[in-house]
Amino acid sequence: MLRAAETAWKTDTGRQRRDNEDNAFARAPVFVVADGMGGAQAGEVASRIAVDTFEQALPDGGSAEDRLADRVREANRRIYERSRSEHERAGMGTTLTAAYVGETYVAIAHVGDSRAYRFRDGSLERLTQDHSLVEELVRQQKLTPEQAAEHPQRSIITRALGPEPEVEVDTWTYPARDGDILLLCSDGLTAMVSEERVGEILASSESLQQAAGELVDEANDAGGRDNITVVLFRLEDVGGNGDRDEPTMIGAAAVDAGAMPAPRAPQAPDDGSGTVALATRRKAIPARRIPPVTTPRERHMPRYAKALAALVAVVVVLFLVGGGGYLATRQLYFIGTNPQGIVTIYRGLPFDLPAGLRLYETYYVSGVPGSLVPSDRRASVFDDSLRSQSDATTLVMDLERGQLSR
Ligand code: CA
Repeated sequence: MLRAAETAWKTDTGRQRRDNEDNAFARAPVFVVADGMGGAQAGEVASRIAVDTFEQALPDGGSAEDRLADRVREANRRIYERSRSEHERAGMGTTLTAAYVGETYVAIAHVGDSRAYRFRDGSLERLTQDHSLVEELVRQQKLTPEQAAEHPQRSIITRALGPEPEVEVDTWTYPARDGDILLLCSDGLTAMVSEERVGEILASSESLQQAAGELVDEANDAGGRDNITVVLFRLEDVGGNGDRDEPTMIGAAAVDAGAMPAPRAPQAPDDGSGTVALATRRKAIPARRIPPVTTPRERHMPRYAKALAALVAVVVVLFLVGGGGYLATRQLYFIGTNPQGIVTIYRGLPFDLPAGLRLYETYYVSGVPGSLVPSDRRASVFDDSLRSQSDATTLVMDLERGQLSR
């Protein structure tokens, strides 16, 4: 029978944000990270509601996945209702990644772009899939992971708790064993620190508390662009066959109380089964993702599209170099999100050239998080299409007024 023998968590505002909208919960056998968003403290409220929902014991009956997902849906309802009753909290949301330690397994429930990892035998394995626009494009092989990491729309999430009355929750059950270390974290860690480096820190730390501190320090040293939250627990096999649903309350050592975060959106497992069993791997350090499920046909289209986009970029550059083009690009605008995930109008062309050269600049930063753009309008708003100044401005102003339902 497994228990969480050692627990540590830490949350930090980071170097560039004024507030910490992340929240966490660490009370064996349940562990949670939530990354809130919405501005004007709404994100902090959303992530706080999310983790507070786990103060109650999980409901009776059903699988651990079902019981966790039930609690996540309850959190969604509470946040949604609060946002409807308090005008200043309208549109708030949060990501949520929760883990439950069972007798021989760990169950995960997940919405958004926070993540769960398992560290075993020196190897870090990612257990969740981000519900983000760029990860969907990576799964469809329209972007490489390297392009996704620098993409101007990388902060857009496609699922969150709060914006809608119902939410789809991804769940998985992973076999677990003595010595496994589980990490739950907000994107403020993973956007700043490579998975390889996370694995090295976990391998070299003498305690989880030390590891939590080093992970946060590393994210801050890399710039600390966002709030950073990490929850760590180590599993130990204590033998026996006790009923794990009794309130064992082991290792509730909260290391560092702090702010709680807001939401982002998740995606269902591609195999549709809801359960993914990971093969054991003994290779050192490099992290592995759950392999994307992609049909051969999906592979071909994106490559073609990518080649075409590259060709267009080359033509555009030749045109610019040819003279007179620079002024022309000043008349072109497109819409994306800035590194903070806020809907932003950019002036220029949506291309990054080698050597970090950009063909666009920030023109206007709106008051709307990208995650709050209605899901049925995301594709048309963020399609990188070139717009006139008035077209782009009108569209973003409609968004700011909440009038983008047309
Ligand atoms: Ca975040």
